[in-house]
Amino acid sequence: IGGHPKPQEGPMRVPGVKRVLAIASGKGGVGKSTVSSNLAVALARQGRKVGLLDGDIHGPSQPRMMGATQRPASPDGKSIIPLQAHGVTLMSIGLMLAEDKAVIWRGPMLMGALQQMMGQVQWDHYDGELDILIVDLPPGTGDVQLTLCTKAVVEGAIVVSTPQDVALLDARKALDMFASLKTPVLGLIENMSLFHCPECGHEAHIFGHGGVATEAARLGLPFLGALPIDLDTRLAGDAGTPVALGDGVMADAFAGIAGRLIA
Ligand code: ADP
Repeated sequence: IGGHPKPQEGPMRVPGVKRVLAIASGKGGVGKSTVSSNLAVALARQGRKVGLLDGDIHGPSQPRMMGATQRPASPDGKSIIPLQAHGVTLMSIGLMLAEDKAVIWRGPMLMGALQQMMGQVQWDHYDGELDILIVDLPPGTGDVQLTLCTKAVVEGAIVVSTPQDVALLDARKALDMFASLKTPVLGLIENMSLFHCPECGHEAHIFGHGGVATEAARLGLPFLGALPIDLDTRLAGDAGTPVALGDGVMADAFAGIAGRLIA
């Protein structure tokens, strides 16, 4: 009897960060990483100090999407100095490995890597404390999501889905997971909502249309916006210069969603 109380096991604030926002999806390939990089850039353009943590450890896309290739330095072998790209402070496992190198890790290694990226990266290295850290989660409801939401104070999650039934089915599972973890869902985004043919002006609902807004209404969650299928968005992502850096319709759409998040 007696002795010291056990250290608290509850969620910790990510050092150097005011607010953590997670970007999630049920299915892969719905545009979660594209939304993450573009929202990060849009928030930075609106004067916020923004970080982007690539939590998709098995399939890190952010080095390519943000055009970052340098290996982050670790002067003392412990703390890690993140990179800066397009005004956003960035960290990804992909920066530590060759682009075609696989991360073949089981759950505990993944959880350790995420905790290192949260705790050992000097998020405040460039401009002092970050206003917002965007975490690009892997798809699904696995170890990384569980670790983030239980070990870190997460202000909320945003769920990205296409309007297609199979994507929505998995998006509902992600929403159910956040409800179980008591992580607030700040809203839903419908990506690849429609295709506007630049040649003939015809609009096609390739993956359906409106399903995500309907789901948000059904659950009483905010609907943050619909993004079309857009060739420039894909090209800009592949080129490492997110479309939100420009001035077109897509940049406006991302700016609008970013504005809603900080309103
Ligand atoms: P996820 O992170 O959900 O796996 P990504 O963001 O990697 O999805 O997107 C998958 C692919 O779709 C990428 O090639 C990306 O450039 C493309 N993409 C995403 N959103 C759009 C969009 N609105 N219009 C066109 N291409 C898109």
